[in-house]
Amino acid sequence: MKSICLLLFVLLVQIPTQAWGSKVDSLLNTIELLQKEENHQELVKTHVKLGGFLSSKSEEKYEKAIYHYDHATEIALNEGAYALAAEAIYGSGISHTRMNNFQKALKKFHHLLELPEDKTEKKIKGNANTQISTIYQKLGNYEKAFEHQMQGLLIFEVEKDSTGIANSYYNIGTIFFYQLQYEKALESYKKAKEICDALGKEHIIYSCLAALGSVYAKLNLQKESLDYNSRSLELAEKLNYKTGIAYAKGNIGSNFVAQKNYIKAEEFYKEAIQLKTEIGDKNGVIGNKVELAQLYLQWKKAKKAKKYLEEALISAKKLHSRGRQSDIYKNLALVHDQLDQPLIAYKYNKNYVSLKDSLLNEKTLEEMGQSKRRFDVQKSEHEIQMLKKGNELLAKNEEIRKQQFCLFAITSFAFLMFLLWNRNKLKYQNKVNKLLEEKNLLLNSKNEEIHIKNKQLELSNEDLQQFAYVASHDLKEPLRMIGSYTQLLKRKYSASFDESGNEFMHYIVDAVGRMENLLNDILDFSRAGSQKLPTTFVNTNDVVFMVESNLRHRLEMLNATLVIKNKQLPLIKAHRTQLLQLLQNLISNGMKFRGENDPIVEIDASPSKSGYVFSVKDNGIGISEENLEKVFEMFRRLHTQDEYEGTGIGLATCKRIVATWGGDIWVESVEGEGSTFFFSVPNVALQAAVAPEMETAPVA
Ligand code: ADP
Repeated sequence: MKSICLLLFVLLVQIPTQAWGSKVDSLLNTIELLQKEENHQELVKTHVKLGGFLSSKSEEKYEKAIYHYDHATEIALNEGAYALAAEAIYGSGISHTRMNNFQKALKKFHHLLELPEDKTEKKIKGNANTQISTIYQKLGNYEKAFEHQMQGLLIFEVEKDSTGIANSYYNIGTIFFYQLQYEKALESYKKAKEICDALGKEHIIYSCLAALGSVYAKLNLQKESLDYNSRSLELAEKLNYKTGIAYAKGNIGSNFVAQKNYIKAEEFYKEAIQLKTEIGDKNGVIGNKVELAQLYLQWKKAKKAKKYLEEALISAKKLHSRGRQSDIYKNLALVHDQLDQPLIAYKYNKNYVSLKDSLLNEKTLEEMGQSKRRFDVQKSEHEIQMLKKGNELLAKNEEIRKQQFCLFAITSFAFLMFLLWNRNKLKYQNKVNKLLEEKNLLLNSKNEEIHIKNKQLELSNEDLQQFAYVASHDLKEPLRMIGSYTQLLKRKYSASFDESGNEFMHYIVDAVGRMENLLNDILDFSRAGSQKLPTTFVNTNDVVFMVESNLRHRLEMLNATLVIKNKQLPLIKAHRTQLLQLLQNLISNGMKFRGENDPIVEIDASPSKSGYVFSVKDNGIGISEENLEKVFEMFRRLHTQDEYEGTGIGLATCKRIVATWGGDIWVESVEGEGSTFFFSVPNVALQAAVAPEMETAPVA
């Protein structure tokens, strides 16, 4: 049976052997060339090819083959060419297996199984599993052998690789066979054969037929066994496969022995011996010769048996096959028993017993060796596991290291950016600060300047006001003298004056009147801004009433009407005299700048966001748009004295008064259609002007 497996093994790994010597040289040259060219892919392929040639030749070349395979593996892995690396590792594994270096072989095949799934051919992994299984089988570890063969089968099934599947079933059958589970072995071999039949793979079919023949023989079903052995012979003959023919004949010989058909058995054994001698299968020859001798013993042809046994003994001694020798001694003893030569029989028996003892020792030693090998295999399995774990750990460490590096890089980058940003920010901040400082300095100096200017302005304003006040006040006295004496002159001596004298007198009186008005207005104006006069709650209704009574004469003269639109004018916080002055100015102007119609002046007040807004509306001549703001300027008059008399100070004084309260004054007008003057009074008590008890201060 072992020989069948070996046979299949040789068949499945067919390596061309023709003209290999020169081929090896040419491959070595190619390797040298490719090394120079640094053509790594081709270099790997050539190394693998050379490995193949070397390992096909003889045992001495296995080492060299391994060297090339391992070299190819290294280059391929460096290049990331995993498919090529797998081929090289596989070759190396096979070479180690052939050298019976099972530990190293297992390491190689396991390494192959570890290569990345997506970059390695699946079939080669299936084959690696098969090789691992075969090694375990040889070591008697059938569990492991079975496990790996099943893994291989799974891969071949996924890959739909029928040859691989058939091969797996064949190997599984063999594992069962060695475990003496013949029924299961039968089943597996049949499956393998079925697939091979469909594929037409005749070499494997032969192996299956031979294997089935052996199983049936073990089951003592000689008819079936003979049938399969005959078919295997037929096929081997068809294929002209001599080894196959020789073994088939030997097996058929055994079938005939079992059937006690000695003639046929003798014939087949002899043919098997003949063929095995031809092909140089010395062990096979010894085996068949012993079997033939046993046949002769059964057949009571001791002399013939003796002849074959003595020949076999010589060969076995040459081959140092002590197992065979022992077997032969035992049979020789039987032969000499049959020949009635008890002394010689005794001598052979003695040989047999002593050899058996030493063989027993050898067997024990061999078993020990096998145990040692198993231990070594287990050790290397453990090493493989540790290596795997180590690799995983290394990969994990690498991953962590990468992550740490990334994190470090990101953090460093972020930190750098932060520093840069901070530096820029600081730079920018410094710049801004410097600029701000400069601006602040400038602002401070400007403020200082403004402050000084304000101070100067205030002083000159005060001086001016003082001057205006003093001048107007002091001028009033001599003016009043001029006015009084001119009146006196006019009254007493106007009759003595001629017409021109009277006319001149009139001009003087008129000018004095106007100058008096001017001085009064200047005085009012300077008073309005000279100091913040104290404010109280003032009833606007009363103030308007006072204005009306002050202006009654003029109202009548001009046939003018004063309308108070809101009978409930508000109570406001103001200086009473100033409010009267303000309203009187606006109402006077409303009457003065009349149009063609009789003047109508309307007074109104309405609440606003921050207080009250008063309005004084007239139906007079109106003001052109470009003059709406100008009218509030000092001495600004839009008409001549002949058209409308005045000083041009009234509205400027109004503006000053409102400003001292924190309010505003403005005018809306359409030329020819009248004007409306507005002024706002902020922060007043929002209370209707119906509280006469608040009225305290008398009108100035
Ligand atoms: P005065 O009335 O003494 O001329 P004001 O300061 O009161 O001075 O007025 C300045 C100028 O504004 C006036 O000369 C006049 O031209 C114009 N003005 C003032 N009030 C009115 C008004 N109600 N209608 C038309 N023009 C006006």
